[in-house]
Amino acid sequence: MEEETNTMGAAPIPLENSVEELSGVGEKRLLGLHHLSIFTIEDLLMKFPLRYSDLATKLPSETGDGEKVTFKGMVSSAPVLSRFGYKKTRLNFRLLVEHDNIAVTFFNQPWLQKKLDLEQEVAVYGTYEKSKQTLSGIKILLPDQVDEMEAIYPASKEIQQRTLKSLIEQALGKYQDDLVNLIPESIRAQYKLLSRKAMFFGMHFPQSLIEAQNARRTASFEEFFIFQMRMQLLKLMDQNHQGRAIVFDNPRLKAFIQTLPFELTDAQKKVVNEIVADMRRPKHMNRLLQGDVGSGKTVVAALAIYAAFTAGMQAALMAPTEILAQQHAKTLGDFFDPAEVRVELLTGSTKAAARRQILADLADGSIDLLIGTHALIQDDIVFHNLGLAIIDEQHRFGVKQRAKLREIGMNPDILAMTATPIPRTLAITSYGEMDISVIDQLPKGRQPIQTRWLRGNALEQVVKFILQQLETGAQAYVVTPLIEESEALDVQNAHAVYEELQKYFMPQYQVGLLHGRMNNQEKDAVMSQFKSNQFQVLVATTVIEVGVDVPNASVMMILDADRFGLAQLHQLRGRVGRGSRASYAFLIADPKTQFGIERMEAMTATTDGFVLAQKDLELRGAGDVLGRRQSGMPEFKIGDPVKDLLMMEAAQQSAMQVLDAPNWDQAPENKALAHYLSETMERYRNFD
Ligand code: ADP
Ligand code: MG
Repeated sequence: MEEETNTMGAAPIPLENSVEELSGVGEKRLLGLHHLSIFTIEDLLMKFPLRYSDLATKLPSETGDGEKVTFKGMVSSAPVLSRFGYKKTRLNFRLLVEHDNIAVTFFNQPWLQKKLDLEQEVAVYGTYEKSKQTLSGIKILLPDQVDEMEAIYPASKEIQQRTLKSLIEQALGKYQDDLVNLIPESIRAQYKLLSRKAMFFGMHFPQSLIEAQNARRTASFEEFFIFQMRMQLLKLMDQNHQGRAIVFDNPRLKAFIQTLPFELTDAQKKVVNEIVADMRRPKHMNRLLQGDVGSGKTVVAALAIYAAFTAGMQAALMAPTEILAQQHAKTLGDFFDPAEVRVELLTGSTKAAARRQILADLADGSIDLLIGTHALIQDDIVFHNLGLAIIDEQHRFGVKQRAKLREIGMNPDILAMTATPIPRTLAITSYGEMDISVIDQLPKGRQPIQTRWLRGNALEQVVKFILQQLETGAQAYVVTPLIEESEALDVQNAHAVYEELQKYFMPQYQVGLLHGRMNNQEKDAVMSQFKSNQFQVLVATTVIEVGVDVPNASVMMILDADRFGLAQLHQLRGRVGRGSRASYAFLIADPKTQFGIERMEAMTATTDGFVLAQKDLELRGAGDVLGRRQSGMPEFKIGDPVKDLLMMEAAQQSAMQVLDAPNWDQAPENKALAHYLSETMERYRNFD
């Protein structure tokens, strides 16, 4: 069935029929299927086996301890049935497999006794315990069944293996002409994939393990490919949606770069080029800028803003906290000549009169750059001509706030910045609809942060070390953990540490305290006092995690460090190592689990945020790395995007290749695919 003759247009897709169409599916069974998330014929066919009981036989000498295996041999002792406990039985016999006489036990399958005769040839599938030469039997097969592969499904109490299997068999028979290929022929040939029909048969009724593996490979690829097609279609949709070319003045931008207090790193130059080229295009920009803490994203933002400014457009920059918004206002204010670029700050604590003035100046275009917190996305804020909206530490915002930013102004170009390194695996799936720029290099002359992991009993030594550092003029952070159950406990804990350290350091050195229960003014006051070195030690909860820059602070001690995620520890650690002093991060932790130990070791082994993110991903899984709520990580039924990254990349390439061809959806080899994606396509068309 290579040439499909499926009906096109609005014709229904038969595989979308309800499983009710199958005989033997009544109300009760239908409900049971629904509980397994099986609604349509396609859902049923996609219910792939968890595994196959691989009945290929082995010899005991080739079998490892605890391995599931099938031994073929001769029953060498009469099976003995014994009863124990309440209704429990045990059947024992010996099986001679070449030269080994294996003791076989079956629990609670008393009927097997009648099936077995002395000196009969049988195959027994079970778990082998090597040291005792025993096989804990699961299943007995007569010799002619040994070569069969048996699919094992994730069945349920309501819908058992047998039922699922026979329904699948029925569906495959009934709908085999509807199993049209979704992956275009050329791509199937390129990656040696099976036809869709062969894929389904190979998954459910393979003749060999190889066939089953090929089927699974095809199924994974198909799943990734469909996902990528949807993603790329959405991206196209987005780009075609009212984009505006921001025609900036390149010589002026270049001249501005000359006025910066430092030379851009190669990585910064590269991403600036990517960003401004994207802005100049008449399509809508939706770009993620990734760069580790301290990689210098702010200046990149400044250049994008300046480019928009030379095109006569306004820009907005939104930051997650008031401290950070203020810091940006100061930094960017210093980059720009105030006579040329007018910068204003708008936050929750901006007074009503000042706010009114800002709104008026924004609407008539006299403000060029507005920096602020989510105060920027209030409904009454109207820009004169907003060309570019930047969101800093974008992972700190909820999905709604990010969406809202896109709605201000006339659908401005979007640049989202994040210091959370996103491993390629996640980026390709979770951020597939965005273009990504990466700053993969730190500015020259940075002191690498020396990270040590120490047990709680070394605390005093570390405090002594901090004292020595203070004597050289440095400042230090002491981070107390977030206690998940209660912010009150957190604060209490931070208070206790604060008091202890005061006793230790005062009167020579001053100690400050920063925590989440303070209001914004209080926090800002503390931060600016620390910045101006009015106190030398800052005890803080994780509120300092985001973006704050105090170059003179070069030591950090993190208490109960195993309570933090790797990404968070890395962010925290990034608060030091910002100036010319040698910098240190001390992780104090007594991890109780192997996981905890591995995490601490990973932190000391590398300062590369991407490596840590990958490690975090392996240790914790995707949802947790990005924060479950906003990860947007789609679920895959068959493929594993983390393990099968290369396949995901191939699927992405393939999808782009398909979509690059003009009128791709009219090409015969793509018709079934286009039809299958018609729902996404429908939305796509409605945008034009
Ligand atoms: P992040 O990417 O974490 O937001 P910042 O933009 O805050 O990093 O930059 C961190 C520090 O590095 C700032 O003090 C900034 O002035 C400095 N910096 C940025 N780019 C360079 C560069 N090319 N050379 C030297 N210092 C730089
Ligand atoms: Mg930053």
